[in-house]
Amino acid sequence: MIDAASGPKMITAYPGPQTRDLVERLRRVEGSGMRTAAEFPLVNIESANGVYIIDSDGNRYLDLYAGFAAANIGHAHPQVTAAIQAQAAKLTHVSSAYVTSTRVQLLEQLLSIAPTGLTRGLFAITGGQANDLALRLARRATNRDEFIAFHGGYFGRDAGVLGLNSKASFRRGFGVSPNAHFFPFPYAYRCPFGNHHTDPDECAQECLTYLENALHNPAAGMGDIAAMILEPVQGNGGVTISPKSFLPGLRRLCDQFGILLIFDEIQSGFGRTGKMWAGEHWNVVPDLMTVGKGVGGGLPVSAVLGRAGAMSSLDAGQHTSTFLTNALAHAAAIAALDVMIKENLCERSAQLGEVLHSSLSDELKEHPQVGEIRGLGLFIGIEIVKDRVTREPDPKLASRLMQQARDAGLILGVSGYYNNVIKLAPPLIINHQQLEIAIELLGNVFQRG
Ligand code: PLP
Repeated sequence: MIDAASGPKMITAYPGPQTRDLVERLRRVEGSGMRTAAEFPLVNIESANGVYIIDSDGNRYLDLYAGFAAANIGHAHPQVTAAIQAQAAKLTHVSSAYVTSTRVQLLEQLLSIAPTGLTRGLFAITGGQANDLALRLARRATNRDEFIAFHGGYFGRDAGVLGLNSKASFRRGFGVSPNAHFFPFPYAYRCPFGNHHTDPDECAQECLTYLENALHNPAAGMGDIAAMILEPVQGNGGVTISPKSFLPGLRRLCDQFGILLIFDEIQSGFGRTGKMWAGEHWNVVPDLMTVGKGVGGGLPVSAVLGRAGAMSSLDAGQHTSTFLTNALAHAAAIAALDVMIKENLCERSAQLGEVLHSSLSDELKEHPQVGEIRGLGLFIGIEIVKDRVTREPDPKLASRLMQQARDAGLILGVSGYYNNVIKLAPPLIINHQQLEIAIELLGNVFQRG
């Protein structure tokens, strides 16, 4: 039974009159290219609090996607709101040419929770910018300029990183060439070598062997590699999780070939997978790590954290941007970090993630079009297929399920190599009751779909 006080509350059928009106106005003024230009725009958001989103028609949704997996501490956390209000009255804009206490404090705090050995940081604003900065640091630190990325990886839309994204459609028509050599990621459910493994680690071994051979092979098409970049758990790739030997294997290869290892923890970090940083599940420390999304507590903050050597490779003035060290954004991030630790959100993500994973596995185990449910912490992917035996992806059904869920008051994400993976990444402050409601509603949506 869904508790009316905690569940979604739909007053109008989607889209309600206010939403329709807003969408029409938007269509008259906005250029193309945004997701909202698609036939079914996502919900409009008038306000958001905790795990709830309210649209202009007064409909209340349970947010299981956290705004591209970024509202880790929930929407409008009161401690962050208070910090923003206090800071707004004191200092907001400050160019990055000046020193501020918020800038110093945030760096100190970020480094205090960073993996051991990462002792320096530099700020950026968006995730894409942080990755771009990491590439520049790697180039300067190694005097090399080629990169290795993996199938399914996603690093943002800024020009410097666009060519690292494995989906060629993201750069089509922009005159950007791939700026990485792409290698298979051990996505065991869809093994890149066409095998069906019972142990995902066998897939990891195949990928590692293939990569190692290429690194030894002067005819493999690669020059000198500055860095390998990957997400320990791929987000846009559909919550594809590195099998246990993969990241240690990459670390070994990087050490052997003098290559820097960059972890993009922009989506997988900040408690999302049940540890502060996803790389901790494998006990692997990268040379550079990019963080963003949830770190800002709702404001745009990102950073590169790394080992002192690589982090000290730029000359003074080589990294700047007007709003790089915005005091308001940094005050919000300081408060968000405090919330993450005081509210034990990593542990909560691990515990509730297990509940969500096992309940969904029970609920959907007979569903003929659910191929696999995988997850780590409150980061869950449901692979939608036409047929469990052929594993043929079914992006149309994934999209229909997402729309039906929205009509029932649940916000989900969709991602994956073939856009057929329903993604759940709720705010980590979600409680048991809200989670149970979400599971029941999801069960109904899948039954109908
Ligand atoms: N890296 C990863 C893993 C991401 O998931 C994203 C965004 O979804 C980015 C980088 C880009 O971040 P931003 O959209 O803030 O530029």
